[in-house]
Amino acid sequence: FLGNETVKAELGRASWKLFHTIFARFPEKPTPDESAALEAYIRLFARLYPCGECARHFRKLLEQFPPQTSSRNSAAAWGCSVHNEVNKRLKKELFDCSNLGDFYDCGCGEDEEGEGK
Ligand code: FAD
Repeated sequence: FLGNETVKAELGRASWKLFHTIFARFPEKPTPDESAALEAYIRLFARLYPCGECARHFRKLLEQFPPQTSSRNSAAAWGCSVHNEVNKRLKKELFDCSNLGDFYDCGCGEDEEGEGK
């Protein structure tokens, strides 16, 4: 049964956008509860991602590269590197993670971090 590559790619782009934007807004100094919440989010995402083949590969990646949730920087760097692992597998160009900077903006201005009003 053939899937639809265009739709799969669109879901991927939307998902990565949300994924990286969450990391970019994650607290610089999270509480243990906030770190645990991000880790749970990542693991549930890997479990529930609607493309089954993608989710299976992603769960393998999580075993190899456990989620880093101790700070905004470590979470954003981790997210960039696992996305690059997926890029490698799909033979896409790698993203320069040192250029992450303000690439992912939530459009929520100076709101309190993570509140996302
Ligand atoms: P995408 O990879 O979607 O990236 C979108 C944009 O993010 C890029 O244009 C670039 O600006 C930026 N970006 C690129 N790399 C990075 C990075 N490392 N860090 C931060 N920003 C970056 N598709 C499959 O066909 N098979 C799979 O097994 C598969 N597994 C996936 C697993 C997950 C968890 C997700 C979220 C998606 C998966 N996809 C898979 C979809 C695939 O990763 C792409 O989203 C899709 O192919 C569209 O690719 P794209 O070239 O438009 O860029």
